[in-house]
Amino acid sequence: MILESLSLPGTATSLPADVATCDDCLAEIRDPGNHRYRYPFTNCTNCGPRFTMITGLPYDRPQTTMRGFAMCPQCAAEYSDPADRRFHAQPNACPTCGPAVWLAVRAAGKNGAVASGDAAVRAVQDLLRSGKIVAIKGVGGFHLACDATNVRAVGLLRSRKQRVGKPLAVMVRDVTAARAIAEIDEQERRLLEGRERPIVLVRKRAAEAVVSAEVSPGNDFLGVMLPYSPLHHLLCEEMPPIVMTSGNLSEEPIVHENDAAIQRLGSLVDAFLMHDRPIEVACDDSVVRCAAGASMPIRRSRGYASMSIGLREAGPAVLAVGGELKAAVCLAHHDQAIMSQHIGDMGNLETLDALDRTAAHLMQLFRVEPAAVAADMHPGYLSTGWARRFATDRGIPLVQVQHHEAHVASLLAEHGRPLDEMIGVCFDGTGYGHDGTIWGGEFFAVSRGLFRRAAHIAVFPLPGADASIRHPWRVALAVLHAAGLAWNSRLAPVRAAAELDLRVFKRQLDATLNCAQTSSMGRLFDAVAALAGVKQSITYEAEAAMHLEALAAGAAGDLGGYAFALEDAEPIRVGWQPVVQAVAADAIEGMPPAVIAARFHAAVARMIVDVCTRLRAQRAGETVGLTGGVFQNALLMQMTIEELHRAGFEVLVHQRVPANDGGLALGQAVLARGWAG
Ligand code: ZN
Ligand code: ZN
Ligand code: FE
Repeated sequence: MILESLSLPGTATSLPADVATCDDCLAEIRDPGNHRYRYPFTNCTNCGPRFTMITGLPYDRPQTTMRGFAMCPQCAAEYSDPADRRFHAQPNACPTCGPAVWLAVRAAGKNGAVASGDAAVRAVQDLLRSGKIVAIKGVGGFHLACDATNVRAVGLLRSRKQRVGKPLAVMVRDVTAARAIAEIDEQERRLLEGRERPIVLVRKRAAEAVVSAEVSPGNDFLGVMLPYSPLHHLLCEEMPPIVMTSGNLSEEPIVHENDAAIQRLGSLVDAFLMHDRPIEVACDDSVVRCAAGASMPIRRSRGYASMSIGLREAGPAVLAVGGELKAAVCLAHHDQAIMSQHIGDMGNLETLDALDRTAAHLMQLFRVEPAAVAADMHPGYLSTGWARRFATDRGIPLVQVQHHEAHVASLLAEHGRPLDEMIGVCFDGTGYGHDGTIWGGEFFAVSRGLFRRAAHIAVFPLPGADASIRHPWRVALAVLHAAGLAWNSRLAPVRAAAELDLRVFKRQLDATLNCAQTSSMGRLFDAVAALAGVKQSITYEAEAAMHLEALAAGAAGDLGGYAFALEDAEPIRVGWQPVVQAVAADAIEGMPPAVIAARFHAAVARMIVDVCTRLRAQRAGETVGLTGGVFQNALLMQMTIEELHRAGFEVLVHQRVPANDGGLALGQAVLARGWAG
């Protein structure tokens, strides 16, 4: 099949990203003598919104959401003076001619404005101080904000947003304020202060509970960010840390339009801080964390989007739609792959709509007509369904790509490496495998563009797949049962299951009723977390694994490790039974969870090196790539890299797109292109 790329001549190859307020602009808004003193939309050629306000290309003011604001003589003079810092600064604005903020309070009726300008900003500070929740329009959408030190306010925000345990991000005015609530090393400081201004996952300061525990309950980590627009700088002045979480209900996409905010966030907040600079593209905050001396992208969105990745070869235009969670789309054309901003978790119509808009936006801006569309192999994913309709409507092929192969391909693509002579290790939650089982603990020998499943975690039953994902105790009991180990009542998951559950559950496992088979490393982490007594049920993805990681990281000294059993088969089967047996024995003996966690991490790192060493002996290559959601675990990442280096391997890890499903679309696009072309 020969496909032709239909992108038109003159196509742009990248869009500028939104940039945090620069020091010069910050000095101006803090200078009482300056025309832009306390003006919330101050910007220049070095800073300000870009991606979120572009409506068309080339990037020029009439093709931005600033087209409705005619520049005053002073702004126009700056804009046209090559010597000025605001020469051709497209969002250039000032208090005379630019956008404005106002405060709207529901109690005022008809959502009318009750204050405007600086008075509105100060009124929001007062509302936050008094425990109120305010929706604040920012650069890429609305935040829901409250005082992070106010237990009641944070609890109220959680219950209104229907967000149970997942950590909430906090904004503080500067690094000094960040250091008061979290441990921040040099690399984390650089990330916090960088022009992309992501949320940085940092370790909470143990001693003082400045920030309410409700912000990230039972979690050692805290998402912290610094102000990235003049409005944020003004809001954070002389304020305690402020919770700034995406303005959405549960898993819906972030709200970015004023009317939608009133409709959809009205029941969540006490007031709105609105402004009239339209947001063309909704864009969530980005999230990063540090591991092994490098930054690990967790979510690439505002500040990074859209991101262009140079590909090794030109090829047909392909649109890839990612997976089910953390969706982001990728548009490959010529020798470029453009990654969209974060869209969200599929599973509701709003996110599907957002996927639709994001794909249309990229195709329109880059003037690309895809010759094929790529999606996950999972038959039940909403994104796959969307891609199928897209393919039918346009009469183009749909290429379905195996989940974990796509993860590996995305890793290679971001490093500009060929799909050749390497070992791809993909440890993940769940993904549809070629054999109909649920994969997630995979080793691929990649050679000349082809993937061979060279090793995998031995399969275990996942009783009622969705229920098992929410309740690690179910996975723990399933692996005990599968390993022929007793359900000892001293084990936490056994105690977590009610008497009736246990009997019903045993019958289900005996009969393998509604039991999927899985090789998922993510689920194995869940099982171990449950056995160690750390977490029996979870409210957000990877919650149990994060707890296990934090415990292991806090354990001191060399505690040894459990040992997986490698069965010589084709593919090599990685037996988890001895590990589960040892974990259960330790737990029954009353070994502290931190020790079990540390031993398990050591076992996984050791096993990766052992398997890779065997595969190297089979001439699979000297390079190992680590990908999949499990590798957001900084400790596991660090231990594995160290051991692989010691064994003489070259190691590739994600630096540009996330190891989780947020990076999936890039790999899908690259693979679909190879097969379709
Ligand atoms: Zn500036
Ligand atoms: Zn002006
Ligand atoms: Fe995945």
